[in-house]
Amino acid sequence: MPELPEVEVSRLGLLPHLLDEPVLDCVARRPDLRLPIPQDLAARLTGHRLRAIVRRGKYLLFHWPTANGWLLLHLGMSGSLRLVPPVTAAGAHDHFDLCFPATVMRLKDPRRFGVVLWQTGDDPETHPLLKHLGMEPLSDGFTADWLATLARGRKTPIKTLLMDARLLVGVGNIYAAESLFRAGISPLRPAGTIGAARLEKLATTIRETLREAIEAGGSSMRDYVRSDGGAGSFQLRCAVYARAGQPCLQCGTSIRQVRQAGRSSFYCLQCQK
Ligand SMILES: [Zn+2]
Repeated sequence: MPELPEVEVSRLGLLPHLLDEPVLDCVARRPDLRLPIPQDLAARLTGHRLRAIVRRGKYLLFHWPTANGWLLLHLGMSGSLRLVPPVTAAGAHDHFDLCFPATVMRLKDPRRFGVVLWQTGDDPETHPLLKHLGMEPLSDGFTADWLATLARGRKTPIKTLLMDARLLVGVGNIYAAESLFRAGISPLRPAGTIGAARLEKLATTIRETLREAIEAGGSSMRDYVRSDGGAGSFQLRCAVYARAGQPCLQCGTSIRQVRQAGRSSFYCLQCQK
């Protein structure tokens, strides 16, 4: 599943090619994604210049001020975006194109859990899918104090808290596991019992793991515009995630796997308290 870093790398890869370019057409070959793609996108956007691409959580938001609105795009479980030359034939899972004079932004989504929607007006966050999203972990608002306020008095395990998108967006299973390992905190620990210094460390390791993944993706960004290459998926070299039964890189203890809120958690009993 595309995570925050993949979405951010997609954004950075698209920007230099699409910004300030006029839309020639929108093509929905298969409009029945998780929600139906609006039929009137071509009528709304043709001739208008794209003025911004921003990310909110795992949504990409494309802004056309002269068309008075935003395109909201989510990659779902299996979606990827790539840029292809205008004449490129579409494959079986290429469901949506946004066409510009020199290039086409193409959404491939085999499982069709993605979303392409329109939101009229200046503020895309008024859309029901966006308005309950929590803090951005790479924003200035995400501080140790903010995390401490969030955790205070809570019995919820810290990992469950970090993965609640209504509170904090974009910290998926991999990034939660790796951040907690780096901070030396057990994923099972009740959030309210973690001291201020450890929470401060955790705020730092969350930002670190996300930035490292974005950088790892950034190094492969040149491939992004090749017709055969999407942003792909890239991961950190994981210390605990998906390493159940293997020795901890720090102490040699076997990495444990447990179920938490329906997801697998991986951690070291010795290094994480
Ligand atoms: Zn260990």
